[in-house]
Amino acid sequence: MPHIPKGFCLECKKELIIKKNGVLLEVRTNKDKPYYLIDSDTWECPDCEIELSLGLAQQPYSNNYDDDFEDRRKDVEGIVYLK
Ligand SMILES: [Zn+2]
Repeated sequence: MPHIPKGFCLECKKELIIKKNGVLLEVRTNKDKPYYLIDSDTWECPDCEIELSLGLAQQPYSNNYDDDFEDRRKDVEGIVYLK
C-alpha cells in the first residue's frame, strides 16, 4: 500500500501532520448558538503551521438539548461555526 496522507498544505506543498487527537469542539450555528460538542483531530502544516480540524466523529459527543451538555462544555478546546 502506498502512503496516502490525510491532506496537504497547498501553500507549502507539504504533507499535513497530526498535532493532537481527541480535540473536543463546540459547534455553533451561524447565529452563535451552541449546537453540539464533537470530537475531532487537529492537523497542521509543518512549515506554515496552519491548523485544520479534521476527522470529526460520526456522532456528537453531546447535543444542546442533552442534560449533560453544560457540564461537558467545560472540556471544549475550540469553538467553530457552521456556515
Ligand atoms: Zn503550509
